[in-house]
Amino acid sequence: MEGWSRGNNVNGSTMLTIDTQTELNVSTYTESIEKLIERLIKLPGIGRRSAERILAYILQAPLEDIKNLSEAITKVKESVRSCRICNNLSEQELCRICQDERRKKDIICIVENPSDVSAIEKAGSFAGVYHVLMGSISPLEGKGPSDLKIEGLLHRIKENNIQEIIIATDADTEGETTALYLAKLIKPTGVKLMRLGIGIPMGSNLEYADSSTLSKALESRRQV
Ligand SMILES: [Zn+2]
Repeated sequence: MEGWSRGNNVNGSTMLTIDTQTELNVSTYTESIEKLIERLIKLPGIGRRSAERILAYILQAPLEDIKNLSEAITKVKESVRSCRICNNLSEQELCRICQDERRKKDIICIVENPSDVSAIEKAGSFAGVYHVLMGSISPLEGKGPSDLKIEGLLHRIKENNIQEIIIATDADTEGETTALYLAKLIKPTGVKLMRLGIGIPMGSNLEYADSSTLSKALESRRQV
């Protein structure tokens, strides 16, 4: 009997046990399910176990919900682009923040990713505008300054009479390396240059900091 082997139980009588090797090779899922799981596993932070949990949700949810989910994904992919000025996510040439007349256009907060903009906006204590670098300097991942959106930033500083720049990159090695690089680059322009203050734990990502921590870090920004 292929896939099965004979073994003895504690009473000494013969019983059948599943051959573990064979069991692992046999998928109990259908072809379309396997295909979906394969695609889900490609998503960041999703392993096979999480993919199976998402699958269970999809199978149980009303068809309408799943259609809406799949349409939402397609819509984002088709319509979202980068803001011409700050690189934040937008569905128009300029993002909501750059379009807003009430924002102080002469204070720029530099962040790594659009998710950082979202986190600082949630804290609600920043009235300036942003510049999204779209990443950080990471020698380990082979990412250098040329992979970041820095040129547009220098152009903004030159052209727009910027009064203050706050570097709000993450408090991890990559974020600190990026902050140092930017400080060297921006200092000669004479613009008031600040770094986020205390409160953000070393080694942590900005987007995971809670709103009050972010507010305090902004308030206690220090000159570099
Ligand atoms: Zn913008």
